Amino acid sequence: MSDNLDWFEFDKRHIWHPYSAIGADLPSYPVVSADGVRLRLADGRELIDGMSSWWCAIHGYNHPQLKRAIGEQLESMPHVMFGGLAHKPAAELGKRLIEITPGPLQTVFFADSGSVSVEVAMKMAIQYWHDKDQPEKQRFLTIRRGYHGDTFGAMSVCDPDAGMHALFSEILPKQLFVDAPSCYFGHPCKGDGAKALRKKLKKNHAQIAAVILEPIVQGAGGMRFYSAEYLKEVRSLCDQYGVLLILDEIATGFGRTGKLFACEHAGITPDIMCIGKSLTGGTMSLAATLTTEEVSNTISQGDPGLFMHGPTFMANPLACSAALASLELLLDSPWQERIKAIELGLQNGLAPCRELPQVDEVRVLGAIGVVELKRPVDMKQIQPCFVDAGVWVRPFGKLVYLMPPYIIDGDDLNTLTSAVVEVVERCPI
Ligand SMILES: *Cc1c(COP(=O)(O)O)cnc(C)c1O
Repeated sequence: MSDNLDWFEFDKRHIWHPYSAIGADLPSYPVVSADGVRLRLADGRELIDGMSSWWCAIHGYNHPQLKRAIGEQLESMPHVMFGGLAHKPAAELGKRLIEITPGPLQTVFFADSGSVSVEVAMKMAIQYWHDKDQPEKQRFLTIRRGYHGDTFGAMSVCDPDAGMHALFSEILPKQLFVDAPSCYFGHPCKGDGAKALRKKLKKNHAQIAAVILEPIVQGAGGMRFYSAEYLKEVRSLCDQYGVLLILDEIATGFGRTGKLFACEHAGITPDIMCIGKSLTGGTMSLAATLTTEEVSNTISQGDPGLFMHGPTFMANPLACSAALASLELLLDSPWQERIKAIELGLQNGLAPCRELPQVDEVRVLGAIGVVELKRPVDMKQIQPCFVDAGVWVRPFGKLVYLMPPYIIDGDDLNTLTSAVVEVVERCPI
């Protein structure tokens, strides 16, 4: 079948991509199919995927079980409105999610993207305090270097200084920030690790609806891994000061850090939890916000007695079916061993980067491997270097990182890590 790639030229002039510019002369590649851990480009080249399409494609691409689940649902009902109607895919998925997330989380709100699930979490927290007769509790406290999405509420709790959102700062709600924890994952926090957070809570708790954090791994804000002790401390401070805890597990959920959910590293439960990204195994857009009976009952019995949010495509049956199939695949697989093997492969494979003068730090946790450089990369240079090396790796800022599908084998993982070492050392980045 011939394809003269006219569509690709059209794309460059008319289609926005994530954090992109129209007409920018940056490398971009036409992809025509994907299978297992390989992406196939229009010119026939195959690239080993090091990104899982941004944390999502945990089972690799084109998985027959996921396709079957979506296909079967497609036959009976691809979509139907969720207002006043209920369907089995949503109920079954909700049940499964309640079973596998921390016990106190008992209700599920399905949203269509991670950012929306964060908006929903923030609105839940505000409505909860409204219904508790503490309507002044409307602000959020978070740590710097976080990332929670691109919509306005979510942006307001992203790192306030990162270039990403500074442009909108005048119209964003003013939230409260403390420095990101300095205690590294696997290490204790020396002294009072959460001192800054404690001080902010002590002073402002009467206005704070919730603390919102990414547990253990700060993703798009810098790929930093922090101590579980800090997270434990945050939970007890929230209890002490009467503030809800929202954990954003959108990136960390479903095994990526070695636990099914990252909050398990600290043995804590949030009041509200956001999940998304790998929820459907990378096939469809779906996210969810889970909360406790305390929060859902308070909102439901309060005034106006309804939770004020309801997306058009809420609980899309195709996406719910895909998510159910993805969970079954994950939980029936030896995922812990796979993550452990990937962790070892990343540690060994990326270790040579430590010797390179360009590199500031190499860190690995679960199926996430990060090489932090001393200077931001030049995407125009580095992207083609990776493609020429036969891998799909997409750095940002100073970070070159890998988070491959869980099904990757040792040889392909080795190709990925070798490519990173090679490119960081030799490519004029
Ligand atoms: C990706 C991400 C989001 C936003 O999800 P979208 O589906 O892109 O809207 C929010 N929080 C975290 C931690 C994420 O990694």
